[in-house]
Formats: sequence, C-alpha cells, structure tokens
Amino acid sequence: MRAIIEPPNIIESGIKAFFTTKTLTGDNTRIYEALSKEIDIAGYRIYLPVQKHTDKIQVLEQEFEPVVADAVITSEKKILIGILVADCVPLLIFDKGKEVIGAVHAGWKGTAKQVLKNAIKAMLTRYRCYTEDISVAIGPSIRQCCYEVGADVMAEVREATGEGDYYHREGNKYFLDLASANKIQALDAGILQEKIWLSGECTFCNPDKFYSYRYSKNSIGRQGGFIVMW
Ligand SMILES: [Zn+2]
Repeated sequence: MRAIIEPPNIIESGIKAFFTTKTLTGDNTRIYEALSKEIDIAGYRIYLPVQKHTDKIQVLEQEFEPVVADAVITSEKKILIGILVADCVPLLIFDKGKEVIGAVHAGWKGTAKQVLKNAIKAMLTRYRCYTEDISVAIGPSIRQCCYEVGADVMAEVREATGEGDYYHREGNKYFLDLASANKIQALDAGILQEKIWLSGECTFCNPDKFYSYRYSKNSIGRQGGFIVMW
C-alpha cells in the first residue's frame, strides 16, 4: 500500500495519521495485512469498527472486538484505528494535550446525525480534552462538484449544519459537499479554524486515484483514514 496522504495538521513525532488512495481491497484480513506492512504494526493492533452510518462512538480501551460504530476514539498507544470509505468523508482527530486520537466515518447520514460533533463531545467528556487542543483532518470525499442529492437529504444535512457554502442548488437539484459541512460542524463544536485541514480532492473527479461508489456504481474498493500513537 503506497499512495498515502498525510494531513499537515497532524504531523508530530509519536503519531502517524494518513489517508490512503484506492489501495484497500478484499476483506478486513487483507486490509490488516496491507496496513501492517505499511506501518510496522501487528495485525491484532489494528482496529476498524463495523460501520453502519450511525452516530455511535466507540471508546476503545479494553475490548477490541469490533462493534457497530462510525467513530472510534482512544488514548491507547500502539493501536491503529481507522475507517473505510468510498465517497463518504473520512475524518481523523488528534488531541495533542491529552494524547487522544479519533477516526470518524461521515456519509450524509452521519453528517445529518452530527457524528463528528458526537466524537468530539465524547473526547471532552471521557478524556477531558479541550477543544482548542484538538486537530481535525478531513480526507478526500465526493464534493459539491459531483454529489447531487435529493431535497430530503439536503434538508436533513442542513438541519444539522445550518447555512453555509457547502451546497448549491440548480433548479430542483441540490449539490452537497459533506467535507465542508463537517468542517462547519467542527467549527461549531469549538475546533479552531487553523487546526482544521480539508483535502481539496473529490473522489468522483479522480477515479484513477480514489474509489468512488457513485462513479464505479459498486462497492468493490475503498480507501481509508488511519491514525496511531506510539
Ligand atoms: Zn467532483
């Protein structure tokens, strides 16, 4: 697995955060193999939740059996956490002060349910993090150029996000940018503007580089966002 994008706001010694391009195929066992080659970590120290477009946050401490969740947070060292996507938004979170990491999967449903805000809230309550110490990296996803949604989807996301330049309307069609919607939600949660990095890349516009569920009309491949502390 090569082709890794390292978010510039989470480059520190003792931590590795990265988004991949479309290098992840096969079942989780094969993905664990590819990851353990890339970052020299044992397969059993890799944790991916069972993603179901929920707003469930898993606090990973003792129990490493995968459960249904679309965000994972932990203060554990030497455990790689991550999420897989193919148009949805992958988000990585790092609190430098309390040394807590997080990985979040936000499609339109997760964005409408404010899964990122829930993950940040869980960091504040469980680990006593301060929002000003938290960095958020927003990886490649389908953007406003290519993501047409119905009025019902638009209404739910707008209800959760408020107004902003994360969508536009062309006649009866709405075009939505979930990455920017999540950035607005992060700011609303108290994350500082300068601590947020947002990838400019659209998965649908770059089918050679990223898997796009909408572009390929199937769900064969994915890319991911991953983070680990040493
Ligand atoms: Zn596009």
